[in-house]
Amino acid sequence: MISLHATRGANYWSRTPITQMDLNIGEYENISSADVPGFTQSLVAAMPGLRDHRCSIGEPGGFLIRLKRGTYCAHIVEHVALELQGMIGHNVGYGRTRGGDKVGDYTLIFEHRHESVGLRAAALALEIVQNAFAGNLDSVDHPVAELRALDKTSRVPALIQHVLSYSHSDIAIILDSDLNDVPEYYKVRRRAERLVSVVADAVPESGIVIAPAKSWEIQDLARDAGCRVAIFATDNDVTSKDKKVARAAAMVEDRRIIIEEFDKSFEVGWIHDKAPIDAQVAATLAAFTLNELGSGAESSTGKRDATDRAARRDRDRAGVAD
Ligand SMILES: [Zn+2]
Repeated sequence: MISLHATRGANYWSRTPITQMDLNIGEYENISSADVPGFTQSLVAAMPGLRDHRCSIGEPGGFLIRLKRGTYCAHIVEHVALELQGMIGHNVGYGRTRGGDKVGDYTLIFEHRHESVGLRAAALALEIVQNAFAGNLDSVDHPVAELRALDKTSRVPALIQHVLSYSHSDIAIILDSDLNDVPEYYKVRRRAERLVSVVADAVPESGIVIAPAKSWEIQDLARDAGCRVAIFATDNDVTSKDKKVARAAAMVEDRRIIIEEFDKSFEVGWIHDKAPIDAQVAATLAAFTLNELGSGAESSTGKRDATDRAARRDRDRAGVAD
């Protein structure tokens, strides 16, 4: 497994939360489900619900046909991850598996109802498929019991991504406009539009999209989508073109984070070494903006403390993220 993460709200792949796993399947690149006698039987015996998966064929039994004809490891992991969730009563069906840039690299995504369940289902599915290929799969009772236990845990996990969207807080952050999580060949020409449309979907109308300075195309698109815009820079180079659309701008001067809002300017914190600067500035701006939206009545000192605290918290999260 190369990486594993979950998205909340709309994302590049779909409008529902998904788990994404990047894999290199190594030796399995040369083995399909049809090459290993007993593979399909043992998998379907342990997880009878797989019979109902439609897959690309579009009818119940479709996936079974794919298995018998021979399909590749990552695609099977996707279906097993969906079925594991189905076995604890989560009604999920959307999944995709695509090859990556290098031989054996795959990106697979599938929807989840519960973020922790989705993430764990990905890892368990990988293990189950490996066991089935090795002829060691008897039952999936233990993984299912584990997911059932996870399902009882809180559904508000830490959120860590390049696009941080807080659906409860009316704010989305575009940390950078390069789609780092997306394989090279998905980086289509209209990616800015696509990026903004998913971000704009995640915040309500009149919500705020925080975008990098000088990403004018993204700023304009966010405005067109009905969002207000705040911008951030990792230096003090914020242009008048940026300021024209932005309700607030955050920048860095001598390692101090400065926020300009209308004709006022606030010093709201300092850059620390432990997290990426862009994440620190964007999170500080998000906290400041949230605070502004939340209450206009606080004293400026109180506001500054609260902002700093919230910023530090968000910054810590963002630091883990990248
Ligand atoms: Zn499929």
